[in-house]
Amino acid sequence: MPSYRPGSTAMELDTKLAQLGRAPSMHAGMVNVPIYRGSTILASTLEEWEARKQDGNPMANYGRFGSPLSRALEEAFCELEGGYGSTLFPSGLSACTHALLGLLRSGDHLLLTDNVYGPTRTFAEQVLKRLKIEVEYFDPADLAGFRARLTERTRVVYLESPGSLTFEVQDVPALAQAAHEVGAFVVLDNTWSTPLYFRSFAHGVDVSIHAATKYIVGHSDALLGIATANERAWPLLQSSAHHFGEIAGPDDIFLALRGMRTLSVRMRRHWETGVQLAQAINAHPAVAAVLHPALPGNPGHELWKRDFLGASGLFGVALKPMTQAQLSCLFGSFKLFGIGLSWGGFESLALRVDPRPNWRAGENVESGPLLRIHAGLEGTQDLIADMTRALDGALDAGEGDRSVCVEQAGDSMPNAGKMRTHYGYR
Ligand SMILES: *Cc1c(COP(=O)(O)O)cnc(C)c1O
Repeated sequence: MPSYRPGSTAMELDTKLAQLGRAPSMHAGMVNVPIYRGSTILASTLEEWEARKQDGNPMANYGRFGSPLSRALEEAFCELEGGYGSTLFPSGLSACTHALLGLLRSGDHLLLTDNVYGPTRTFAEQVLKRLKIEVEYFDPADLAGFRARLTERTRVVYLESPGSLTFEVQDVPALAQAAHEVGAFVVLDNTWSTPLYFRSFAHGVDVSIHAATKYIVGHSDALLGIATANERAWPLLQSSAHHFGEIAGPDDIFLALRGMRTLSVRMRRHWETGVQLAQAINAHPAVAAVLHPALPGNPGHELWKRDFLGASGLFGVALKPMTQAQLSCLFGSFKLFGIGLSWGGFESLALRVDPRPNWRAGENVESGPLLRIHAGLEGTQDLIADMTRALDGALDAGEGDRSVCVEQAGDSMPNAGKMRTHYGYR
């Protein structure tokens, strides 16, 4: 069978992004793999049908076990990550939860980083505990404390670096080495970095997870998850995906493959704009601290320089204490930043987030509300101006000058609600 993986692993990652996951000779010369829809896959003879059965999976020739399109993305992504096998899931969260379910057995001990993505934490609390898995959290900055929690029952150590909301960078190689000493699997949610900026398998990770919804798809128009395993973890990950019947939709897979082609150019821009925006925000009097590992002086900066190859456009901002009215004024002043969940698309976003109970990066800062900012692909100076005006507005509102805020908030399209009226949907 012609392969979706060009042979050379020495190729630069940028070249791989253009080359991987395509095989025009298999698809009438089409430069991209077309969208394959379907459930059943027909054989022309009974003998052919019998021959397609695989050990342990007599139904292997069925849409639930993949199509040329899903295999194209899986093989491309696996090569990009440097893993042994990749499997797709219908959302990023689904990739996180099924990786955990594949690796854990009842009676096992799971150690999760304290700054893990909120819904993964909720899953551990609500589902894994019910399955008699012992769930414990560790402070990602305290290596000695982490070691003290490892036992021979520790089956999985779950990392996320930088962590959701507070962006602490973890010493992944050191954590992985300690975890492997007790025989545990190391799982990393690598969404922030993409495969371009953090090389999971070179740093000791066994399963690397991406919410492809974010930068891989890159255009905020699909949900998808991808988990990639090394040889040791692959059979468990693969069987978890199969037994739960998880299958991603073909349109979403197609959009992820298309997004992948431009990942490198988009990421460079998110990185650059994000750093410039973070620096501008850092200098503003309404701000207590900016939580961005690429900024010198950030607690995670040295580890980031050692282990990462770049930064994404997502970071945190700890504001100085302010009233709800000031915060409303800040958000009401945005003309470019959308107010909403998710990130990794072309568009800039801002959201107030609540990091409890895991507020570490900001614990030494006298801080008010925490914001999460995504720097999109708009013009950097426009974004800086929009953010500066919003922060100014919050300060002015604190001085009792509410007119500034009301006037700004009344301007056109600060958020999606107003966009909708513009298009006549309401
Ligand atoms: C968004 C996100 C997820 C979940 O992805 P969905 O596709 O929204 O389910 C998982 N981990 C991290 C770090 C995320 O930011």
